[in-house]
Amino acid sequence: MRYVFGNWKMNGTLAFAEEYVNKLLGEVRPASVQVALFPPFTALSSFQYLVKDSFLKFGAQNMYYEDSGAFTGEVSPVMLKEIGVDYVLIGHSERRHIFLENDEMLMKKVEAAHRHDIPVVFCVGETLEERRTGATKDVLKRQLILVQDILSTGDIVAYEPVWAIGTGVTPTMDEIRESISWVKELLKADLPVLYGGSVNKGNAVDISEVSGVDGVLVGGASLKVEEFAIIIKAFDQNI
Ligand code: PEP
Repeated sequence: MRYVFGNWKMNGTLAFAEEYVNKLLGEVRPASVQVALFPPFTALSSFQYLVKDSFLKFGAQNMYYEDSGAFTGEVSPVMLKEIGVDYVLIGHSERRHIFLENDEMLMKKVEAAHRHDIPVVFCVGETLEERRTGATKDVLKRQLILVQDILSTGDIVAYEPVWAIGTGVTPTMDEIRESISWVKELLKADLPVLYGGSVNKGNAVDISEVSGVDGVLVGGASLKVEEFAIIIKAFDQNI
């Protein structure tokens, strides 16, 4: 099984979601790829109806680690469970860097998701400075150290170099292979590891052929339904 996941970030109204999902369901019928979308919270609850009885899965882009309480602006695992999410993204680089989520907080989020049986897509990745100074392996190790024992069957890890996210720049295929293989070495469980960072219709086939890559987490290109469909087909063909 391979995975093509789309993170809409802070994009996509309810009307957009409805039109997009209907088009995607008409456009692709993947045989060997699991497809999931991660819309913003306002559109998320409608996904339980939009994707009903289809191959399409859906998840939240973030969540807090408490079940309820005085945490203005946050959404809890109980709320996500109620709408039937298939996944929650934890540790996306935008959460780490813009919202200053640290490794301890991310571990608590993984534990909270597990308490409610919500599988996690845990994101890791180095900055450009860290890559330039040869610190990539150490950074990935540090980002995984608190969760490597608790990530388990059903969870997924996404390797997303920060410098490749939203920039149009991607690592070489060798660099992707090396980092993914290092992440797999660090994990205690045998989990799928996805690549993320400027995946598009032009590079999807090449990335799908890199050994060890179990799929992709797509940001910007997942907002264009035709392009996302091409990426899904690239992974569906190159098994
Ligand atoms: C992401 O948001 O996880 C991502 C990889 O973004 P993009 O594909 O736009 O680089």
